[in-house]
Amino acid sequence: MNNDILAGDWKQFKGKMLEQWGKITGDELDVIAGRREQIVGKVQEHYGLGRDEAEVQVRTFEERYKTADADLKKMCGHCSTVHAPTAPCPPK
Ligand SMILES: [Zn+2]
Repeated sequence: MNNDILAGDWKQFKGKMLEQWGKITGDELDVIAGRREQIVGKVQEHYGLGRDEAEVQVRTFEERYKTADADLKKMCGHCSTVHAPTAPCPPK
């Protein structure tokens, strides 16, 4: 099991998490430091959710973030600039 799935870009994740789950504080996220299990635990605790529900929220968050991240970082094979693969190439 990879419990540090969020650890790579933790600083970026942290900012997004503060937006997503406003009840969780920055200090708490510092302690969590990307440990997935604890993130699920905090979401449960602060929002009074069941384990499964919190898990779904974290997974949805991860997937959205990862997709966005992958989109942003892709170097286009057509125009050699970095843009979302779903977006059209920028005009030259
Ligand atoms: Zn392009």
